[in-house]
Amino acid sequence: MCAIIGVWGASKAAELAYYGLHKQQHRAVEFCGIVSSDGVNSYRDAGAGIVQDFFDQSMLDQLHGPYAIGHLRYKTVKDDPSRDNTQPLLGYRNNRFVAMAHNGNVTNVAELKSGLSDEAILATSIDTELILHRFCRLSVFSPVEALTRALEGVRGSYSLAVLLPEALIAVRDPSGNRPLSLGHRRDGSIFVASETCAYEGVEATYLRDVEPGEMVVINDHGIQSHQLPEWSGGHRAFCYFEKIYYAFPGSMIFGEYVSAFRYRLGQKLEACHPVPYADVVIPVPDSAKFIAHGYAASGRSGRFAEGLLRHHYIGRSFVEGDQYLRSWRATRKFSTVPSEVKGKVLVVVDDSIVRLTTMPLIVRLLRQAGAKEVHVRIACPPIAHSCRYGIDTPTREELAAAMMTIPEMCKRTEADSLEFLPMEALRSLADRPDDFCYACMDGNYPAFLEPESNVSWVL
Ligand code: SF4
Repeated sequence: MCAIIGVWGASKAAELAYYGLHKQQHRAVEFCGIVSSDGVNSYRDAGAGIVQDFFDQSMLDQLHGPYAIGHLRYKTVKDDPSRDNTQPLLGYRNNRFVAMAHNGNVTNVAELKSGLSDEAILATSIDTELILHRFCRLSVFSPVEALTRALEGVRGSYSLAVLLPEALIAVRDPSGNRPLSLGHRRDGSIFVASETCAYEGVEATYLRDVEPGEMVVINDHGIQSHQLPEWSGGHRAFCYFEKIYYAFPGSMIFGEYVSAFRYRLGQKLEACHPVPYADVVIPVPDSAKFIAHGYAASGRSGRFAEGLLRHHYIGRSFVEGDQYLRSWRATRKFSTVPSEVKGKVLVVVDDSIVRLTTMPLIVRLLRQAGAKEVHVRIACPPIAHSCRYGIDTPTREELAAAMMTIPEMCKRTEADSLEFLPMEALRSLADRPDDFCYACMDGNYPAFLEPESNVSWVL
């Protein structure tokens, strides 16, 4: 998963991009980068790590100008160490720079690459470069027309920020799979961000979403909206997992605050799978907190309690060769609050189970702290399929739900019971359930996001 930020018309735009990325750091921690511009030249720095470790003031001071875009990257493809896959990418069109940052995943890379005259022209191994390359080659067209043409035939998921000397362009694919929004400040500066929580970091306010299939051009004349050709047949595929787990609780995603959605999710989970004699409802910190609050809201299945705390200063990890070290892995990440655990019937609420590595350790930790019973409740259906649209889920063989039944998973966790939110209950939480993607849960990959065999793409 990745994050993007764009800044148009603010002094020290690179610093604002830095703060906007910092607020979205939960989305990706592997690489970060910023390109700025003074309207003529571009300035770029990018590398491994989180923004606050990679960038220092002297680096930001070299990123001149009132315009900038930034990117956080989490690998969804295996990196070739000989290639620099950091973003934003930088290219040239009519001898003027083009910087591009991408959140999402193109599904027909092989098809698109087969249209290249020579693959060696690619400097990276990421899908974004195919779009950038095409855009740069379409030099006789206006930027809007060239980008529209560059995206023809691209399948999968893309939210883009493109910085040119004369404009900042934001694009969201017609399925709307990844979030993208606009913000503004009183000084007239305009912002683009994957998540609205970024605006808090730059004293801006949320303006509106970039709509699915919309291309927004921001320049000194304001904001102009253009429409991409519709290739999703009018269908949407908003990533439900953004709302359940990935997005920051303070963000507004797909028309609703994430915190409010997660509270409703918890209420629904309790309605489907109550534990009427439980004493307390404990979230797995931090992402399940709002879900656990919702679960406890009825008062029927215990009261909310922070029975587990997450350590924010975790040392280096070890190769867990024996049982003691495996348990230690959980204890170094979490601590129990014995007054909320000892002698009590617990409901432990989490957003999802992926590999099933952490939950058995948590259950063991709670039992060691004196829990009488531990009932685990998961706020989404079992994740049994890999994501193809930009979320780094493991291969199917590594997904617990693909390899085990729910009773087998319960046995592995050593919980007294384990229940997942049913698919129909999850669907019922959306006003327009068909507008969401559920592929990692039900294996139904939206056909319009998948490669077509008849796309002609010649670079
Ligand atoms: Fe989101 Fe899952 Fe769909 Fe991927 S497959 S876009 S993680 S809902």
